[in-house]
Amino acid sequence: MSGLFRTQSRDPGSLARTGILITAHGQVATPAFVAVATQATVKAVEPQTLVELGIQILIANSYHLHLRPGENIIAKLGGLRGFSGWNGPTMTDSGGFQVFSLGVGKEHGVGKIASIFPGDGSCKSTEGYQRRKSLVRLGEQGVSFRSIIDGSEHFFSPEGVITLQRKLGADIVLALDECTSPLHSYSYTKEAMGRTHRWARRCLEAFREGAKDGMSPNPEQVVYGIVQGGAYKDLRQESAQRIEEMGFDGFAIGGSLGRSKEEMHLVLDWTIPYLGLEKPRHLLGIGEIDDILAAVRRGVDTFDCAASTRIARNGTVFVKDAPRHRINLRNARFRSDPHPIDNDCDCFACRHHSRAYLSHLCRSGELSFYRLASMHNLRFIVRLMRDIRAAITVGRFSELEQEWQAERDGSA
Ligand SMILES: [Zn+2]
Repeated sequence: MSGLFRTQSRDPGSLARTGILITAHGQVATPAFVAVATQATVKAVEPQTLVELGIQILIANSYHLHLRPGENIIAKLGGLRGFSGWNGPTMTDSGGFQVFSLGVGKEHGVGKIASIFPGDGSCKSTEGYQRRKSLVRLGEQGVSFRSIIDGSEHFFSPEGVITLQRKLGADIVLALDECTSPLHSYSYTKEAMGRTHRWARRCLEAFREGAKDGMSPNPEQVVYGIVQGGAYKDLRQESAQRIEEMGFDGFAIGGSLGRSKEEMHLVLDWTIPYLGLEKPRHLLGIGEIDDILAAVRRGVDTFDCAASTRIARNGTVFVKDAPRHRINLRNARFRSDPHPIDNDCDCFACRHHSRAYLSHLCRSGELSFYRLASMHNLRFIVRLMRDIRAAITVGRFSELEQEWQAERDGSA
């Protein structure tokens, strides 16, 4: 489908580009951050505030919504849109990452990201999955697993996951994939990649067949294929080519992105040149500030990561001129700090509250802190993305990148 994405400008010095993603429920200016709404809500922030913060698109999780409340209830209430009250564009994750989290990732004691950036808790982790041993059986037909809520048995097939996502009714849905661990061997990664490609083809067929039955609350859905292949150059290139030639509406880059940031950059360098220029590219589960800049430089249009709101709830808020662009309000030095979190930020928390007050709310475990800190971190990323788009438009993306790097290094 050629009407989904329109490139607007290209950076002369990299693959960075701006564009418009056109969905049935609105347009998304890219590069864009996709806010994570696992349970059909961004944690601690309701839809109206997301609109005010400038959030353009949400991603909900099929696996969790299937277990609770169930896709049939959501479909009856008008899909994710009618159910949640968020009227803008939406995506759903196919549940492939959960297959990984519940199965092989757990066996290795790592998540796809936890193992890339050890100890920083930056993105999706397998935390909380550790205790659920041997609950997953993976085969050619799909994956069976037990509910993390009540132990009931469930089965995800490529076709079933498409039906599930059609009922949820997001604008962009994802094919079912098998997400491998960075610790998997070359041969296992290759085997899993082959299965992901066969599943992708079945997903696409099911999606095309189902499009005629009128059962989805959103008949304008599109489907992305997921590129796998771990941190192996030939596998990534093969996967990108196979997924590209199947005719998906867009692409997601998933799976293990290696064991370091450098490897993640290589994975993107290997993958993106094989993906159709006229189609959108989504990077699954990446959201550190320097990762965002690196991904945009390599041609990524959208990405999602739960970290910005998760770290907020622990007291970590984004600030431009700090090591890793973040401070923790639990730190003793903020107890009497009269300044806002970030002088340049226009969010409610920064306009109305001091670091001292927010530090107090955080230490006291006040619920208002979750909301205020989450709002700040979301707004911070939204403003970063706006600056990135503006810089690409005027051919200054490299300068913007250097400016952020200097802020980070100068304050370290
Ligand atoms: Zn703020």
